[in-house]
Amino acid sequence: MLMEVQRTAVVKLSIPDERHDDLKRTMNTFRDATQRFADRGWAGDDDGYVITSRSRLQPLVYDTIRDNTGLHADLTVAAVNHAVAALDGCVEKMKDGKRTSRPVFTSNTAVYNTNAVSYFDGYCTLAAYGSGRVHAEYVYPEDSPQADYMEGDEWTKQGAKLRYDRQSDTYYLHVSIKQEYDELPAEAESRTVLGVDRNVDGYLAVTSTGAFVGNADLLNHKRREYERRRARLQQQGTRNAHLTIQSIGDTFADWSEDFLHQASKWLVEEAVAHDCSVIAVEKLSGIRERISNASKFQQWAFNELLRQVRYKAKAVGIIVETVNPAYTSQRCSDTECGFTQEDNRDGDEFCCQKCGKKLHSDYNAARNISHKFIQNWRTSGSGGATHHLALKSGILNGNGGYTPATTGG
Ligand SMILES: [Zn+2]
Repeated sequence: MLMEVQRTAVVKLSIPDERHDDLKRTMNTFRDATQRFADRGWAGDDDGYVITSRSRLQPLVYDTIRDNTGLHADLTVAAVNHAVAALDGCVEKMKDGKRTSRPVFTSNTAVYNTNAVSYFDGYCTLAAYGSGRVHAEYVYPEDSPQADYMEGDEWTKQGAKLRYDRQSDTYYLHVSIKQEYDELPAEAESRTVLGVDRNVDGYLAVTSTGAFVGNADLLNHKRREYERRRARLQQQGTRNAHLTIQSIGDTFADWSEDFLHQASKWLVEEAVAHDCSVIAVEKLSGIRERISNASKFQQWAFNELLRQVRYKAKAVGIIVETVNPAYTSQRCSDTECGFTQEDNRDGDEFCCQKCGKKLHSDYNAARNISHKFIQNWRTSGSGGATHHLALKSGILNGNGGYTPATTGG
């Protein structure tokens, strides 16, 4: 079976001083063009329906927008696509009975399809205003994941998004890359298990490979900020205040969805990077008590993250399994130890009272979740497969054997 794994490589760019203005103008115009396409689509067709198809929207205003702006043809096409995707999102929300409003583009982002960007060793060229394409050097250490993504043969580079960070006055290229496998990332009979510990504060998720994913505190902070603003506006009670409430509600909903999508994407990428074929998480029935004091929003985020991990994992042939969470936070995950006691854990810190092993308590829990999954599998005797536990320092298989990681991963 042919499997495909997709990722996004984020690469810092160095732009020649004399081309900064050309690139800035290109991005601003891209945003304006996208807005104009979206406005036309939002205005609707003859029957009053929002237009969400590119082939219907493009002929209506493409020539006008291109003549008025002089934007590169491929960027103009990308702007239509960008607008259509946003309109489609609005219509989906309407279908769900949710409130929605005209898409407004404010971010410093331009979408480059493969005709508008070319990749070379160490640099790329970007379509822009001014004299010819902009030559942008990649900025990263020689030995870095970005260097592997951009210069190795393993990854196929597709389109990209160019983003401008105002604070640091820096351009970043977010390149979509993909890799194809002939079979599952890990052989079916040697399945590697990625343990994931989820939380409602601190980190959203911590993996048995030592990846700390998503700042849950930031998510909670943003939620409180939104709730405070909403409460203030509700007190005003004017029609304007009501409209603002709708708008900030939509903005926050979009932001938190994006935030969780980023986190779920990272988790699945972590599983792929370690050749895992199973992601093990705690069973909800066991943790309901632990998160019962969390706000409705935190509980929603907790569940939404898993829902997203499930479908993203499925897309790359990875299955998600659950284990009973009992003692996963109290047990020492050291392969030689396994001592279980309540005192082992003190907040974020885990310190084994028997062997003295110290590690982040969520990381310890994630390792125990993988361990538990493997134990369950061994005692149930299901299948003839050997499960492996994906650990930061190597691989522990279901029989207790240990293979050190060759890449130091
Ligand atoms: Zn221990």
